[in-house]
Amino acid sequence: MSKKKSYRIDIKGLVQGVGFRPFIYRLATRYKFEGSVENRNDGVVVLLRCTGDELSQFVDCIREEAPPASKIESVTFDETESNSFDGFTIVKSRSVSDSITDVSPDIAVCDDCLEDMKIQRNRIDYPFVNCTNCGPRFTIIKDLPYDREKTTMKEFTMCESCRREYTDINDRRFHAQPVACAECGPVYTLYGKGYKITGQGRIIEESARLIEEGGIVAIKGLGGFFLACDPFSENTVRKLRELKNREGKPFAVMARDMEAVRKIAYADAAEEKLLLSLQRPIVLLRDRRKMAPSVNPGVDTTGVMLPYMPLHYLLFERLNIDTIVLTSGNITDEPIITDNSGAVEILGKVSDAVVTYNRDIHNRADDSVVSVINKRERVFRRSRGYAPVPVKVPLDVEGVLATGAELSGCFCIGRGNQAILSQHIGDLQNAGTFQFFTETVEKYKKLFRVKPTHIVTDMHPDYLSTRYSDLYELPVYRVQHHHAHIASCMAENGLDQKVIGVAMDGTGYGDDGRIWGSEFLVCNLEGYERAAHFGYMPMPGGDKVTAEPWRMALALLYEIYGESFTGLKLPFLRDIETEKVKLLCRAIDQGINTPLTSGSGRLFDAVSALTGLCTESRFHAEAPMRLEAVIDKNETGMYRFGRNGKLISFKPAIEMIVEDIKNGVPVSRISAMFHNTVTKAVVDTVKSISNRSGITDVVLSGGTFQNRHLSVNTERTLRDEGFRIYSHSSVPMNDGGIALGQLIVGAALRR
Ligand code: ZN
Ligand code: FE
Repeated sequence: MSKKKSYRIDIKGLVQGVGFRPFIYRLATRYKFEGSVENRNDGVVVLLRCTGDELSQFVDCIREEAPPASKIESVTFDETESNSFDGFTIVKSRSVSDSITDVSPDIAVCDDCLEDMKIQRNRIDYPFVNCTNCGPRFTIIKDLPYDREKTTMKEFTMCESCRREYTDINDRRFHAQPVACAECGPVYTLYGKGYKITGQGRIIEESARLIEEGGIVAIKGLGGFFLACDPFSENTVRKLRELKNREGKPFAVMARDMEAVRKIAYADAAEEKLLLSLQRPIVLLRDRRKMAPSVNPGVDTTGVMLPYMPLHYLLFERLNIDTIVLTSGNITDEPIITDNSGAVEILGKVSDAVVTYNRDIHNRADDSVVSVINKRERVFRRSRGYAPVPVKVPLDVEGVLATGAELSGCFCIGRGNQAILSQHIGDLQNAGTFQFFTETVEKYKKLFRVKPTHIVTDMHPDYLSTRYSDLYELPVYRVQHHHAHIASCMAENGLDQKVIGVAMDGTGYGDDGRIWGSEFLVCNLEGYERAAHFGYMPMPGGDKVTAEPWRMALALLYEIYGESFTGLKLPFLRDIETEKVKLLCRAIDQGINTPLTSGSGRLFDAVSALTGLCTESRFHAEAPMRLEAVIDKNETGMYRFGRNGKLISFKPAIEMIVEDIKNGVPVSRISAMFHNTVTKAVVDTVKSISNRSGITDVVLSGGTFQNRHLSVNTERTLRDEGFRIYSHSSVPMNDGGIALGQLIVGAALRR
């Protein structure tokens, strides 16, 4: 029999706040090993006395039986100086280095806890039930290592029975930091119009009653407040839009269970898996049955999620409807409200009741939004359940702070070879959102022990994220927007070589001072060559075109037909004053406030307006979304486009679309043919660049690829042509992923 020795096992990855130490303890006691387990802020360390064979068996068990919410990145072990132990113990946490281990994101309530809400004496209907496998994490964590005193649960002193569970190694709540019960934990309070309710049961009842009677209820979630109402009541949904000052942007809904989901939408196996995942994101699904028209006007998809907090389950037990609107508790573009007083004051005005609880939200987190494209998860908005899980990158990014873009604000900090992307922040032009941005940077610096040594920003001189870098007296790298998009996708896929990058995007600042957005780059992490792009289009009115897509349509018509385009008598022009049209043509002639853009998003805007689908846009990307929504999937035809050197021209396509409109071709076919044309243009251009350069790795990024039709067909066709295709999955392809690309480019340049 081989001799017992002392070993040290180092486990890295997402191993804190997920019940890892008790798991190790139970494993060790199962084998009757002596030793200890400890949370360090750089991972979990196990000391063990056993034989070599037993050690390898133990390590296998760690990998195979790890808690559901954990994610092990590495397990390393080595012999260590001889120790004697008295049984197996969990050592109290202490900070030992400036390294960190991953902070667990929030996890949806587990089935065992839901069961406890039915049978456990002090937890019957108690909505803050949680255990080591579930519950709040990131949103309540103030500092590491993850211990109750470093969370917003600090204020709550455990009662006898909770403490017993917390200290009983064989209990599911052993060392579950947010452990709570009706006796000692947080409680909900409902503030109605002139009244206040404190009993949990009565709060649920009252909320359900208000929602069913057409009211709006603000409810505190994990990362902020949300507004709930009946999605089948058009009056209520319209009222919610008015009060929230949110015009057309679709509302997300929460359905009771999968059966309820299927009543309103189609969900395939991959989508169902995401709906039921620990992250419980909003999943974009194709509509089966329309709810009130104002829920998602003009589009054929709805964002659907399943309950993730105990309160959601309790609410659905009382509700007679099995779906509710559940949208961010904010006004216009303000950040989602997190504090109780702000909620009562601000959301109190737009709702019939505000339901709060007395545990603070430390880190704001909106619901995450995902979509399944080509059977693969694509994260569009990365927040609750996802942030702050790091992206492992192929080079040293230590000390790099990347400030991101502007419209979908998000920053990224580097720690070793981990890129930590912040949660979705929002449009930085909003003052409150910009404050959220700066505060969150400070929180991340503290939480992850990062002292920035290098800053990376966009090239756009006026982005607030660019200007923010002035606060640091550090070396700054400025990265071209679309190079950052491609680099982001490269980082996510672990690439560090020369690739063909296709960035189909709204707009971004080009290195020639023009506005880019349909970029074919031959690039690596350090730099790029602009190999091709869509032809420039005038953008009369500058930024105004995003709200008024008709300007783009008019600009293209004017370019092609000159003044005679008015003679075409296109229906979409009927609603626009002749004076305005003339003024715009003069502006284009004289180049007044008419920058040039190659943004593919703008091309989609133009076609959406041209076909009369969307001349005025009420929210970001409404025009392309409406164009996509009407696609006739059986239509395989396409229009002509021109390719001349580096330039791809869609003028021939626009002329053909104009003819089709005049001939009364259904817009569903026009849209399909237009999408097919763009796909073909992308594929042909990639092929010609590949022929010239010999590169066969193709990286796709940019917000325009959120268009399912374009993404699916581009990826499939290129793959069929023999290319290796890399696309985004857990990092947004829109500007929410820019910071990761900036970070990796900065790190590569530093290298
Ligand atoms: Zn649980
Ligand atoms: Fe972009």
